[in-house]
Formats: sequence, structure tokens, C-alpha cells
Amino acid sequence: MAVPQTQLPGWTFEALYDDYRQALAEDEVLYDSRTEHQRIRVFTNPRFGRVLTLDDVVQTTEGDEFIYHEMLTHVPILAHGAARRVLIIGGGDGGMAREVLRHSAVERVTMVEIDAGVVAFSKKYLPGLSAGAFDDPRLELVIADGAQFVRDCADRFDVIIVDSTDPVGPGEVLFTDSFYGRAKACLAAGGILVTQNGVPFLQGAELTNTMRAFRALFADATCYLATVPTYAGGPMAFGWGTDGDARRTPAETLQDRFAAAGIETRYYTPEVHRGAFALPGYVLRLLP
Ligand code: SAM
Repeated sequence: MAVPQTQLPGWTFEALYDDYRQALAEDEVLYDSRTEHQRIRVFTNPRFGRVLTLDDVVQTTEGDEFIYHEMLTHVPILAHGAARRVLIIGGGDGGMAREVLRHSAVERVTMVEIDAGVVAFSKKYLPGLSAGAFDDPRLELVIADGAQFVRDCADRFDVIIVDSTDPVGPGEVLFTDSFYGRAKACLAAGGILVTQNGVPFLQGAELTNTMRAFRALFADATCYLATVPTYAGGPMAFGWGTDGDARRTPAETLQDRFAAAGIETRYYTPEVHRGAFALPGYVLRLLP
């Protein structure tokens, strides 16, 4: 297959698929450097604001990050109903910690990020993402491989959120059966594991693999969806695994919990929460 022109000056072509590219115009490149783990870049786009890429794959943009971060935090936390201890694996930009910490009932957030460079860089170039989360005394930041962390961890968490890169490079290990098994062992009774699982229309195998592992581990294993414009190719899937029945929390209970939390959201609503678990046929067919 002929390789398309992907070197247009003033544009970033996302290097995620061989046969499908998303291009974002660059107004200004603010940062471009390599850590020992990955290439980190940030540039501004007129529509999405500041855009963070790792190894030339879009991780987050100022314009649409709220959808991803709200859906990976408020769905499991409000479904659980009494989450006190939350573990975030990855999440170096701080957006996930920001949303978790908006729940005043959460007492402790442990965030395990492999790359200190992402944290330092995000604080400087994307301060709106963490919005002070790194200074919150409830946050414990651990710079380590998330897979290693769950192997050695004796703590138990009510909610575990895997905010990883795609399954290439350092993030690959976070999509393995053994990682999921160890993560499950770190859940308290009734705990919930949620994961970023890519865009099923384009990355179906990734979802199938995670769901196969989840179905072997959890009494309730499925995924839920949200559309994030810069994760191109249709809605994105989030893996959901628990031995409890939090997914069936009635709408009225979610409404009450959401009101009690006193959180203002731009995407999450209890109705969206419930509806996100309704899966179209092509996604259902990816579930083993
Ligand atoms: N929302 C993004 C997406 O889906 O495109 C991903 C967010 S980004 C914050 C993911 C983070 O996971 C990066 O900061 C990366 O350094 C971190 N990460 C990758 N592999 C990891 C591992 N094995 N352990 C801990 N963190 C990891």
C-alpha cells in the first residue's frame, strides 16, 4: 500500500493506523522532546486548543478531554456509591486525578505513572488538565510501572482506573491478562475496574481481548461508550469489570448520588451514565 503524504508542514498526522490518519493543524509547537519512554509533543490547534501527543498518538486535547475524563471517573465512582480509595494507573497529564478529586468523599487517590516526564511536562504546558490535582494532599503520585505496582501492592481500592496509552510501547503490559488479574486482586469487595479500550470500530481486537480476560475474572464484565472527537473513528470503549452489581444502580440512586456529590460536569449526567452501557450491534459482536 502506498504511504500517504504525512509530512505536510504545519500539520500533525496521528501515527496510529497504517490505513487511516487523523490530521490536526498546528498553530504553534510548544514542546517536542523525548523521555526514556516516549516522544512527548504539545502544540496548539485552533479548534481543540493545546494537544498532547505521545509517540505521535493523540492523548488529550484541551477542547475535548472532559468527555474522556468525566466518563472514566464519575461512572465507576457514582455507580460504586461509597468509593474512598481510588487507584489510577497512567494518567500522567493529571486530568483523571482532577475529576476523581472532585468527589469530596474520596479520601485517597494513588496515581501510578511510569513517566515522570509526562507529569512534569503536563504541569507546565497543560496546567488546566490537572487544575491543582497534583497539590491535593489526598493524591499520592508514584512513578513506576503500573503492572509492577499491582504485582507488589498490598492495598485494596474501591475503584481502579486504567488511563493508559494504547497497547504499544510502555502501555502494552496494561492490556495483558496477568495485569488484569493482578489489578482485580487489588480491588476491595464490590470494587470496580475500568479501562480505556480504544475505539472499537478501528481497534476491535483490543476490546475483544480485554473483554475475554474480564469475563474470566469478573461476575459482571462489559464495556460502555462515549464519543471523544479526537479519538477518531467512532465511540470509544471503556472496559468495566466488577463482582458487584453497581452497573444496575437505579437511575434515581445515581441522580441522588450525583446531586449529593455537588459536581458540575460538561458531559456526564446520570442519564448518559445509564445509556453509555447500551451497546450497538457491532460492539456487542466484539464481546466474547
Ligand atoms: N487518554 C489517553 C489515550 O487514551 O489516548 C491516554 C492518557 S495518557 C495520560 C496515558 C499515560 O499512561 C501516559 O502518561 C503514559 O506515560 C502512561 N503509561 C503508559 N504505560 C504505563 C505503564 N506501564 N505504567 C504506568 N503508566 C503508564
